[in-house]
Amino acid sequence: MDQSRIRNIAIIAHVDHGKTTLVDQFFRQSGMFRANQVVEERLMDSMDLEKERGMTIAAKNGSFRYKDYFVNIIDTPGHADFGGQVERVLRMADGALLLVDAVDGPMPQTYFVLRKALALRLPVIVVVNKIDLPDHRCDWVVNQVFDLFVKLDAPEHLLDFPVVYASARDGYATEDYNERGDSMEPLFEKIIECVPPPKGDPNGPLQMLISSLSYSPFLGRLVTGKISSGCIRIGQDVAAAREGKVKGTGRVTKLYRFEADSRVEIATASVGEIVVVAGIEVANIGDTLTDPLAPITLPPVKVDPPTVSMKFIVNDSPFAGREGKFLTSRHLRERLFQETLSDVALVVEETGPTSFEVSGRGELHLSILIEKMRREGYEFQVTRPEVILKDVDGKKLEPYEELTVDVDENYVGGVIENLGRRRGIVLQMNREGGRVRLVCKIPTRGLLGFRSEFMNDTKGTGVMNYVFLDYCEYAGEIKDRRKGVLIAKENCVTVAAALGNLEDRGTLFLGPGEKVYGGQIIGEHCRDNDLVVNPAKGKKMTNVRCAGADDAIILTPPRVMTLEKCISFIREDELIEVTPQSIRLRKQLLSEVDRLREFRRAGGKAKSESAQLPAE
Ligand code: GDP
Ligand code: MG
Repeated sequence: MDQSRIRNIAIIAHVDHGKTTLVDQFFRQSGMFRANQVVEERLMDSMDLEKERGMTIAAKNGSFRYKDYFVNIIDTPGHADFGGQVERVLRMADGALLLVDAVDGPMPQTYFVLRKALALRLPVIVVVNKIDLPDHRCDWVVNQVFDLFVKLDAPEHLLDFPVVYASARDGYATEDYNERGDSMEPLFEKIIECVPPPKGDPNGPLQMLISSLSYSPFLGRLVTGKISSGCIRIGQDVAAAREGKVKGTGRVTKLYRFEADSRVEIATASVGEIVVVAGIEVANIGDTLTDPLAPITLPPVKVDPPTVSMKFIVNDSPFAGREGKFLTSRHLRERLFQETLSDVALVVEETGPTSFEVSGRGELHLSILIEKMRREGYEFQVTRPEVILKDVDGKKLEPYEELTVDVDENYVGGVIENLGRRRGIVLQMNREGGRVRLVCKIPTRGLLGFRSEFMNDTKGTGVMNYVFLDYCEYAGEIKDRRKGVLIAKENCVTVAAALGNLEDRGTLFLGPGEKVYGGQIIGEHCRDNDLVVNPAKGKKMTNVRCAGADDAIILTPPRVMTLEKCISFIREDELIEVTPQSIRLRKQLLSEVDRLREFRRAGGKAKSESAQLPAE
């Protein structure tokens, strides 16, 4: 492929600003020619989890052709928790499209990625999308973007960014938002004009920095990256090297490029192209594929440190092994370490024969991993997320985030109060048309569990986003708002009458007919202490005559505890049991006697256990 005809662009967008719609238009309008198409999953938005959560988790590639140009599209995850990927994939790009909604303007999730793109000095084309909306405010949006560039210390020459207006939905782009266009051509032209072709010597030795990694059951390890020098072909012997040292060599067995949203087999590729290579089993993210005889390595990608960790523990609950396919310590170890190969922001440490400490960029980062493993058939337990502290010159430091929330005026009081309790400091507050936007600096610790409270406090109407700021001084103790819990006394099946009797004790997490075990948490107590209860045996109801009458009891629907809710809810002496079918909460110590002993040993301080209150 002719180097001067290649363009490699990253797309930066906040969720819902129209990235998927825009990329679909690119494919559609470029008159894609698809030969030798490999039948595989669609590359854009392919993970189920991504669809459900409405965000890009794994960065992906695609391409389109325009005239005689070949344009690679590099998708970037918008969320700060996936920052490890952003840094890597941006190394494949020679320019970026910043996609911004014509009404909303730039959003916090795009700041983060844009900051990384500007740090790499990538030229940026701003695409203001959805100009078909009657209430669009294009000038305001462009001004906001400009302010953002200034705030992010963009180098002078990048401040004068080109702007294209678009309606991805209606399939056109235009340089003047008062004029409707009829195709994407103005945007295609801008890309060709403003994004430089990839650099590199086509006759030099092979160099390709590995930006991402995946597996195929048939081909083994697949590595993706941009060729920054030389060329590569099927059958070639290449070395995987890092920091000047060759780790091993392998023979290229398959080679692919991205055509539209699929991978297509090719025989050779040259400088500037983004390709997938099979056959180099020793290769890893951050390695350079290079000539074994003249190895030259490229600097690997620097990644921000992990800020939050959780322990993953082999399931030892009384129900262990009933629902999952993979349960053992070995299964867990293999799966977790495999994840670190493709996710460089994730750190896994073996902390005992049955436990692993998993550290990542945020609560969300880890919860996505848990959800992925659960769907693959794994069964395990996790502890409460903890923030990773640092000790610098005897000073305790903790990570901080910049949090932006958009809330209805009516709820702003409650939200500010909660943020205050969590040691958040409001930096900025803007009111507009009944909505308020707050920007604050808050310890990462203060954000743990914030999302679900925030959603409650704003009746589901609030929007929140955050990006990592820096490590700063420890903010002091943060108290949670949670009450004690209701704990099942022993193994049993829940009975409606019994649950009915418990309703005035607190909020239940499950309904009748559920198997529970002793030490399992079945609800939140209405008081601060924990309470051991018997959900299988109720006080006799006076007018109950026959066994079948149990069905007649009308219970308040239980509070459904999703994985995310559980993660925000648990305290340090509790665990979440995760299986493909269930998510349960439990006390680490299942027996009441053990918990009492621990309570006494701790000097009666752990307020979570109740010595006085007898089981129901
Ligand atoms: P993504 O989350 O960035 O991938 O956004 P999507 O492409 O999924 O679009 C989010 C929503 O915005 C969808 O309902 C789209 O139909 C809508 N949308 C996308 N582009 C446009 C546009 O140009 N005009 C209008 N009115 N809606 C659009
Ligand atoms: Mg999308």
